[in-house]
Amino acid sequence: MDFALSDEQVALADTLRLWVDKHCPKDVARHLERQELAFPYELWDQMADAGLHGIGIDERYGGQGGDVTTQTVVARALARSLAGLTWIWGISSFAGGKSVGLYGTEEQKQRFLPELAAGRLRFAIAVTEPAGGTDVLGAMTTRARQVPGGWRITGAKTWSTCANVSDYLLLLARSQPDPARKTDGLTLFLVPQPSEGLETRPIHKLGMRCIPSCEVFLDDVFVPDDLVLGPPGQAWRMLTGTLNNERIVLASLCCGILDGVLESAVEHVAQRRAFGRPVGEFQAVQHFLADIAMWQAQAELVTMRAAWLQSQGRPCATEANMAKLLASEYAVAAADLGIQMLGGMGYSADTDMQRYWRDARIYRIAPISNEMVRNVVAESLGLGRSF
Ligand SMILES: Cc1cc2nc3c(=O)[nH]c(=O)nc-3n(C[C@H](O)[C@H](O)[C@H](O)COP(=O)(O)OP(=O)(O)OC[C@H]3O[C@@H](n4cnc5c(N)ncnc54)[C@H](O)[C@@H]3O)c2cc1C
Repeated sequence: MDFALSDEQVALADTLRLWVDKHCPKDVARHLERQELAFPYELWDQMADAGLHGIGIDERYGGQGGDVTTQTVVARALARSLAGLTWIWGISSFAGGKSVGLYGTEEQKQRFLPELAAGRLRFAIAVTEPAGGTDVLGAMTTRARQVPGGWRITGAKTWSTCANVSDYLLLLARSQPDPARKTDGLTLFLVPQPSEGLETRPIHKLGMRCIPSCEVFLDDVFVPDDLVLGPPGQAWRMLTGTLNNERIVLASLCCGILDGVLESAVEHVAQRRAFGRPVGEFQAVQHFLADIAMWQAQAELVTMRAAWLQSQGRPCATEANMAKLLASEYAVAAADLGIQMLGGMGYSADTDMQRYWRDARIYRIAPISNEMVRNVVAESLGLGRSF
């Protein structure tokens, strides 16, 4: 196994570090986070100017390319300051671009990928339903029925991040009423926004506040045939084909949070004084930092191993799930210790630790909860499926 980054990837990480420090340092991150329910359009445009939206999109369609390891470099570098920044890049370029790149027709690729790469289009993902995300197939009530020239969709989605600021929703709906298996008869649609009958409503949330997440309501929304992604009825197989990549990129986002927490904590304990010396000289505080540094190293290793396996075309479902779980749990635990090290200031909205904690907390729940990750890791040991 060789997890070493290429010279190009190291250079990309260095460039992104400088870019983040210039365009989204931690004070800017705090400001964006406070404007809850707003979308940082200016930052989006700056990312477009820097060519960031093209990373992960095939060069033949105007992107910059970049395999899963390159994507982890981007996810980590952006999240060091602001976790939401990773998703500002990721939802459109990584998630949307990947789905169109893998399953779109040639016409769809030519139509969407260059626009996504240039930052002229935004996508949102609308899979989770109000009745449940873990058992999304059991909970799904959104229906699509075929009509001349396209489909009509009725139902509701929830937590669709950036839905209210996106041009298209990549939306999962049941297109066959009573299939033999729940995994059959599902179709992915690119629902244009605005569309008659489509409404979005932002949700107030604990963290990740620099990007809005929304309820979505669909009342007989028409979607033309040329906006169906992949073969109708086959969407579940398509979605599961992208899951490992998503888990790995998300684990890397959590590595970025660990980087940000450690950096801020070291800086703080070096200058904050008690009993005539910096608090960083007390052993208890040093142990906190040592633990975070070890979690950071472990999270990085499991993430890079999963990325390496995927880039070699080898099976990596268990490793990708393990990386997502470990990195998210370490990121939350590290931010919690970070709050402790800052004392009362750790509880202030004017410092970053509480923001890292709130941002990291969601990754124990989404896009798959860590309880479900443990279920699938246990299943990989040969135990019966528990759900
Ligand atoms: C900030 C945020 C952003 C999001 N962005 C998006 C997005 O852009 N697009 C999108 O489609 N979705 C998005 N989601 C939704 C996310 O994917 C779901 O929240 C997630 O899948 C969990 O589903 P749920 O919230 O319905 O929890 P539930 O399914 O209601 O689960 C509740 C609890 O039950 C546990 N549980 C359920 N089944 C089992 C089992 N078999 N074994 C053990 N425990 C179990 C879960 O682990 C959890 O602790 C987002 C969510 C949030 C909060």
